[in-house]
Amino acid sequence: MADIIQLLPDNIANQIAAGEVIQRPASAVKELLENAVDAGATEIRLYVQDAGKALIQVTDNGQGMSETDARMAFERHATSKISRIDDLFHIRTMGFRGEALASIAAVSQVEIKTKRAEDTSGTFIEIDNSIVRKQEPIAANTGTRISMKNLFFNVPARRNFLKSNAAELRHIVDEFIRVAMAFPNIFFSLESNGQQMLYLEKSSLKQRIVQILGNSYAAKLIPVQEQTDYLNIRGFAGKPETAKKTRGDQYFFVNNRFIRSAYLNHAVMRAFEDLIPKDSFPMYCLFIDLDPTQLDINVHPTKQEIKFEDEKIVYAFVQSAVKHALAQFSIAPTLDFELDPGIQSLEAVSKPVSREAEQAAASSGLYESFTRKNQAHFIESRSNLTNWREVYERTNPEVLTDQVKGSETETREGELPNIPLKLVQIFNNYILWPKTDGYLLIHQQNAHERILYEKFLAALDGKSLPSQQNLFPVLLELAPADYVLLEELIPDLKKVGYELEPFGPNCFAIKGSPSDLPAGVEKKLMEELLEDLKHSGLELRISVREKMIRSLAMQQAVKTGKVLSNEEMQEITETLFTCEIPNSTPLGKPTYTVVKKSELDKLFGR
Ligand code: ADP
Ligand code: MG
Repeated sequence: MADIIQLLPDNIANQIAAGEVIQRPASAVKELLENAVDAGATEIRLYVQDAGKALIQVTDNGQGMSETDARMAFERHATSKISRIDDLFHIRTMGFRGEALASIAAVSQVEIKTKRAEDTSGTFIEIDNSIVRKQEPIAANTGTRISMKNLFFNVPARRNFLKSNAAELRHIVDEFIRVAMAFPNIFFSLESNGQQMLYLEKSSLKQRIVQILGNSYAAKLIPVQEQTDYLNIRGFAGKPETAKKTRGDQYFFVNNRFIRSAYLNHAVMRAFEDLIPKDSFPMYCLFIDLDPTQLDINVHPTKQEIKFEDEKIVYAFVQSAVKHALAQFSIAPTLDFELDPGIQSLEAVSKPVSREAEQAAASSGLYESFTRKNQAHFIESRSNLTNWREVYERTNPEVLTDQVKGSETETREGELPNIPLKLVQIFNNYILWPKTDGYLLIHQQNAHERILYEKFLAALDGKSLPSQQNLFPVLLELAPADYVLLEELIPDLKKVGYELEPFGPNCFAIKGSPSDLPAGVEKKLMEELLEDLKHSGLELRISVREKMIRSLAMQQAVKTGKVLSNEEMQEITETLFTCEIPNSTPLGKPTYTVVKKSELDKLFGR
């Protein structure tokens, strides 16, 4: 009988190996973005079509490749990043296995255009199914552009496994964000089907977080920063009041690589204990940097899990650093933070640490003083009050002492003490609020936008706003792409009062709308919403939800020119100053201005 064992042809071997590395369009996106980062790019652009199923293209201005390297890059185990087994323990780059490009070339049709600064011409290569179809010199900018088309065109079983475009696109955005978050000093852009989704200018980490997670974090990030001989931590945690009912805005990076770690997440949750409700999740974006010899990043093929040499130290350190940061922000004036025993005891940690030392860190005086119940409450009520009180204090000091102080303990958001407001509307545009030492001028439309925005924001995370059933459902016929866009938002729309139901192909029936919305405008409103979602082009934020509530707030707000009743003016004025950020619209336009009597007096030479 003949021998039966054969070596697999390269393209089949590569296809099998590719299964591990490239599971979906988002995995290819991650690999290509990381390669661009490794190549030292300062500008990285991602373009996808059909959620990456038709095309994924990454353009970078990194170091580029020589002709030979460009060809070699697609061989399996071809990498410029390690050459000895020892290198594995000192990885500073994102990639190192030399598998990504080979895998990508095995399951798609790839074109690469690349040029190094020192070369006069670049190289163009076309590969599909691991076979080079074309290779030629080409004029090109320094850097690399890789396009992969028709992912899994030759592995139909895998192609069929892919989810809807909306779902695959979401994965892509997630991967994109994880890379973009880790490298704020790199410009990133993401376009999908010709539409700009993210446009992230080079910035500080803090700005990058706000660019990505939205303006609502702008004034609500607490810096976390601790350094020891063994490891450093840097980044930001959201103030306790930004905690959400859904897990989501939580990021850990180890040596700039995004990782998942339930264990370290637990450490952060412990630090937030007593400051946030039990079932809510704080925002954080934390970077742990340590000597690569203390890590094994090789454990997971897509490298999202990580093994620390000493996990417990990292846990204690993370918990302690976040606690310290929270304490500093919240109750700094009442405690002396020069010495943090938690961190101090860890500072000696270049050597192995005992359980005792770890426990000592966890039970340090700082922790205890901080988690005392009454202090946590103190923080809470203070943060609820600051905004409107500040305004009030600035403009009406004497009233404050009597009426406000007395009610400090009970005052909650939305419940102002009953101060009668004398309000006048001028130009059908501004609400004038006279005070003893000046007056406030509130822009009715801007103010209402802010109010509605915060109301919607709260509804997304909590109780839905009331909706009124339409007697006759209004039909909304859409282009297929718009249909998909809106379909994804159905649950969020419901929270803010709009009930949409699929009704035949590319059509929704609007069955309910917010009870305070004038009849008959819901269709136009949804159409405007879609326009806003599609054309917020160069806008920095990404979250579709965020865009949705901004758009709705703008549309539903009372307009300039509308005559307001006394009650309406009162309502706007009072509610505005219970807002988290009363002084500007979600897009940053001012909502009110203060004119001091002293300034007026000066004008008149008094
Ligand atoms: P790895 O990143 O693990 O080394 P890849 O298959 O992702 O493996 O890439 C293989 C090699 O191709 C890299 O080591 C690098 O030398 C080169 N390369 C890949 N992408 C780029 C790029 N965008 N710019 C410059 N060189 C690149
Ligand atoms: Mg790589």
